[in-house]
Amino acid sequence: MNSREKLSSDKIFFGLREVISIKEIIKGTFLLEISSSEQLSKSDAGQFVYIIPRIQKRTILPRPLCIADADAGSVKLIFRVKGKGTLCLSGLSKGDRISVMGPLGKGFKDIKGPVLLAGGGLGAAPLYFLAKKLQNNEKTSIVLGFKNKNEAYFIDEFKSVLRNVFICTDDGSLGSRGNAAEKVREIISGEKILCACGPRPMLKSLSDFAGERGIRIFVSLEERMGCGMGACLGCVVKIRSGGKEEYQRVCKEGPVFDGSKVIY
Ligand SMILES: Cc1cc2nc3c(=O)[nH]c(=O)nc-3n(C[C@H](O)[C@H](O)[C@H](O)COP(=O)(O)OP(=O)(O)OC[C@H]3O[C@@H](n4cnc5c(N)ncnc54)[C@H](O)[C@@H]3O)c2cc1C
Repeated sequence: MNSREKLSSDKIFFGLREVISIKEIIKGTFLLEISSSEQLSKSDAGQFVYIIPRIQKRTILPRPLCIADADAGSVKLIFRVKGKGTLCLSGLSKGDRISVMGPLGKGFKDIKGPVLLAGGGLGAAPLYFLAKKLQNNEKTSIVLGFKNKNEAYFIDEFKSVLRNVFICTDDGSLGSRGNAAEKVREIISGEKILCACGPRPMLKSLSDFAGERGIRIFVSLEERMGCGMGACLGCVVKIRSGGKEEYQRVCKEGPVFDGSKVIY
């Protein structure tokens, strides 16, 4: 055990993990599979890990990535190259070792009954983990929205765990034409819980819709993060709480929030 692994707690792993595989699944977007740990294998859907990239032998600030799947064997992460951190991760190879901390934050917890999931773009990634956890409920459905067919990924994986998978694209090149929020309005049939991850405008639109229809909604939010442990307050969002507005931390109270309480 190295010194970092000694910092691991019962619930959070901190140490080196080995890259099992890395693959570009659509242009600029990678599926990274790393070895698991006892703590990581117990992750909730919606929780995230902090990956610490090393560039020219120097570490840079950790980068948060949602857990797309986790079990005792491996943890899967799906990321899009945005800047230097994710570019560095895209250059990893099988057998490389990377620093990982997690699982962090609060995910989708105690979600039961017929649930409709809605993922926009990269937002589909954490919903795969949730879909797997909910797959025994035949009434669980998912709407996946992408810009176009070249941006769509993991369709077969979703179809292997859920019976009802609805695809839409902005240009109609795959599935029906339109965005995920519009598709949810079209196909919803009695579900009382919505779980969504994607761009802010989509989450706002779905939260407004859920409010009108008396549906519970949980949304996974993203903010630029500093420490990832709740100390730096760099990732706060405004939340309604007990008749007041307050700031809550995406890394600690989130990233999954009650969508009806988020001030978008
Ligand atoms: C809880 C959480 C979970 C996330 N899960 C995923 C995931 O599963 N897959 C994935 O691809 N990305 C995910 N992200 C976003 C990812 O962390 C950022 O894209 C990444 O940190 C960018 O690092 P970089 O060094 O490549 O880019 P940087 O050089 O740091 O920035 C490049 C560009 O990306 C923008 N950017 C950086 N971080 C964010 C952010 N958090 N939100 C929006 N824009 C940002 C910057 O403003 C800049 O324009 C998540 C973010 C959070 C907060």
